[in-house]
Amino acid sequence: MKRGVTATEASHGIMQEGVALTGRLATSIMTFMPNPDHAAMLQVALEEARRGLAEGGIPIGAAIFESAGKLIGSGHNRRVQNGDPSMHGETDAFRNAGRQRSYRKLIMVTTLAPCWYCSGLIRQFGFQKVIVGESRTFQGGIEWLRSLGINVVDLDSSECVSLLSEYVRKNPAVWNEDIGEE
Ligand SMILES: [Zn+2]
Repeated sequence: MKRGVTATEASHGIMQEGVALTGRLATSIMTFMPNPDHAAMLQVALEEARRGLAEGGIPIGAAIFESAGKLIGSGHNRRVQNGDPSMHGETDAFRNAGRQRSYRKLIMVTTLAPCWYCSGLIRQFGFQKVIVGESRTFQGGIEWLRSLGINVVDLDSSECVSLLSEYVRKNPAVWNEDIGEE
């Protein structure tokens, strides 16, 4: 995805639905969602995950944002497509974001809790905030990241759970290869 668009613009379709909501319903949704920007950011990562699935790959996507919501880069797992075991959603987004002076104020958003490899990347470059779509399918290193004082927000998205769990059910061998299980 090209750089420089905001999460809101990137998830335009979702926002359009939001605009259609009026009155009490909209108010109750806004009250229910403490930070709607997180959901909009996750939609960008989800879009990447779906793109990966359409390419025949593992549906995991990620996106990196500035704290104000500007998209810096996004990407998806390309293990199958590129035959590259190092190309996870987070690493693809990280590479697409290009060189950054500092990562402390950037937000890593990913549809799935980051694996040890990607948790290491988050620690290495000093991200202070990570938004994960879900950690039911895989817990990865989120407790370790939290122990380092990194703010990990788990949105527990049923959309993320169903997208990946269906893939895992159909492709258990590829999944186990991806997470390093024998
Ligand atoms: Zn990873």
